[in-house]
Amino acid sequence: MRPALLDPLFVPLTSLDGVGPKVASMIEKVVPADLTERRARAVDLLFLLPHGVIDRRNRPGIAHAAEGSIVTLEVRIDRHQPPPPGNRAVPYRIYAHDDTGEVALTFFHAHTAWLRNQMPEGARVVVSGRMEWFNGRPTMVHPDHVADAEAAATLPLVEPVYPLTAGLSAKVLRRAVAQALARLPALTEWLDPDVARRHSFPAFAEALSRLHNPADPLDVSPAGAAWRRLAYDELLAGQLSLALVRGRVRRIAGRALAGDGRLGNAIRAALPYSLTGAQETALRQIKADLARPERMLRLLQGDVGSGKTVVALLAMARAAEAGGQAVLMAPTEVLARQHLATIAPLAARAGLATAILTGREKGRERAAVLGGLADGSSDIVVGTHALFQEPVTYRDLVLAIVDEQHRFGVHQRLAITAKGDAPHMLVMTATPIPRTLVLTAFGDMDVSRLTEKPAGRKPIRTVTLPLERLDELTGRIAGAVGDGQKIYWICPLVEESDELDATAVEQRFAALQAEFGDAVGLVHGRMKGPEKDEAMRRFKDGTTRILVATTVVEVGVDVPDATIIVIEHAERFGLAQLHQLRGRVGRGERPSTCVLLYKAPLGETAKRRLSVMRETEDGFAIAEEDLALRGEGELLGTRQSGTPGFQVVRLEHHGDLLETARDDARLLLSRDPDLASPRGAAVRALLYLFGRDEAIRLLRAG
Ligand code: ADP
Ligand code: MG
Repeated sequence: MRPALLDPLFVPLTSLDGVGPKVASMIEKVVPADLTERRARAVDLLFLLPHGVIDRRNRPGIAHAAEGSIVTLEVRIDRHQPPPPGNRAVPYRIYAHDDTGEVALTFFHAHTAWLRNQMPEGARVVVSGRMEWFNGRPTMVHPDHVADAEAAATLPLVEPVYPLTAGLSAKVLRRAVAQALARLPALTEWLDPDVARRHSFPAFAEALSRLHNPADPLDVSPAGAAWRRLAYDELLAGQLSLALVRGRVRRIAGRALAGDGRLGNAIRAALPYSLTGAQETALRQIKADLARPERMLRLLQGDVGSGKTVVALLAMARAAEAGGQAVLMAPTEVLARQHLATIAPLAARAGLATAILTGREKGRERAAVLGGLADGSSDIVVGTHALFQEPVTYRDLVLAIVDEQHRFGVHQRLAITAKGDAPHMLVMTATPIPRTLVLTAFGDMDVSRLTEKPAGRKPIRTVTLPLERLDELTGRIAGAVGDGQKIYWICPLVEESDELDATAVEQRFAALQAEFGDAVGLVHGRMKGPEKDEAMRRFKDGTTRILVATTVVEVGVDVPDATIIVIEHAERFGLAQLHQLRGRVGRGERPSTCVLLYKAPLGETAKRRLSVMRETEDGFAIAEEDLALRGEGELLGTRQSGTPGFQVVRLEHHGDLLETARDDARLLLSRDPDLASPRGAAVRALLYLFGRDEAIRLLRAG
């Protein structure tokens, strides 16, 4: 049970003043918590850390205020100049002066009464905002703050800046964060005093308060003591929950699965290629794991296109040889269906029955699938997370494979475990996670790597092109279409708005359709499942030649004869994402091209990213570079910039804390395995705060 003292933080956002359902949904787009399975709560606001500050300490006097700078001015109000009646386009101006000069405070669509009240003629007031020069005169348009001389002392001189999303005002967000902070109860320190001293960590509450009420820009630096303290907390919570789960998982023996290779060989015989050395090695490791009386917990890492699916299929065949069922879980419906399309005919050659279960199967169809899982007539089932939801039961689930799952955490692991008698587990990822991340995100899973691409793959030519030269590109695309090639055309994700997203992609679709007619298809996230399938199918079978898409094709989609991928606004994508997208081509006999269309001018980080893409196709090199580039760039403060699986940790700043956190977690659990001591109790609060409380349930379950 969650300690009652944390209750005030575990309330819906709408419990906060000034936060209605609409604002709550906007806030949900910026908080760093994983909201795939729940709505945001007040506690999530604590970890929405500012990515910068507005420094209002600069008080240069009107005449010395640089254009564009944020300044605070103490002025005397001289006169009001309302717009002429009936002309709303002209702003309301208030003229004021200090010893150095005169400034016009400018308000569009002004609330006249409020202005008269706040700034009566003759009053001394303090205003803070951005200086602009309009017609050669110092101007401040809509000051951020207006206060009379007495209240001026309470003005925030250094204000935190949070990531924003369209429609969410900084003021509303700050007010919500402040309320969440005020709800933080007094908590017992959970850190080891030595660790805290060694790193000069402030207390948890103080760290939060420094970050959200900075007195200095340094206070909000990820490298500062306050942020590092929270990062350590999050790492510690992660390591504790991993250790708890691991302890539990280890205690449960797995079932040793023996196989005679009969089914696997039948499938191999049906493959149009032979496995790569790396695939053979991974498969050998997996089979050895399955044969042991402990459950397998293995990560299969393989760059895009390295051929993970067939390894999964052969592992599932092994499970079937041993008489059990296997599931393959994909993150999206499109992918689940694609997997089924790949797997079902091959499995059929070995006499195996396959099924699919996603959110889309309804009614009688669903009942039939569930029946097949429960009575064992389905050997292999592919699906989405629906596979592990409540009503689903398996006759004998022995192997669970999770594909392309970036967010595969303890929670999912437990859900899967609950469905079988400790099924063996294989997690497949195309994200080439650097070693440090494997440790944090997955604990000490065993790792197999597909380091080699299938034979005959040709390198992908990567070129960059400014948007202004779109016409040239269209000409080349026309040539490629005439030549029977297939082209992906990716439009960017507009983080703030699904609607904008759809518009961008639909506009591009319309433009290309005007040129290429029926040869153009469209797929994006807001389309209905069957529509998406249809669009994918038509592209696959060649009915359409150009597929305009959002990043729904980012993970896993396999159309081997696609040879060109155009990524529009490539500067808006992260490196890992660009690499994933590029991996959609270069899978067949013909040479492939990746065109990175960008909008000039490029920022430093974007420039570097695009050149990395041009220089290398090595996913691991790209992942390391990605990690190095983050934190420098324009993405700072948005959700993408974080370290996957974490809310406040930025590995590039906090990676050095990892070892300590792991040792600390081990030591603590060796002394107090049930978290029953006073420090144990404090640590439980920590686990709840960072949403790692699944592990606590294990304590009770024993
Ligand atoms: P990913 O690792 O990205 O999931 P896939 O499993 O989708 O890769 O495989 C990519 C493509 O490579 C598929 O078209 C698959 O049929 C093909 N493939 C897989 N293994 C081999 C191999 N050993 N030789 C040739 N092609 C292969
Ligand atoms: Mg795949």
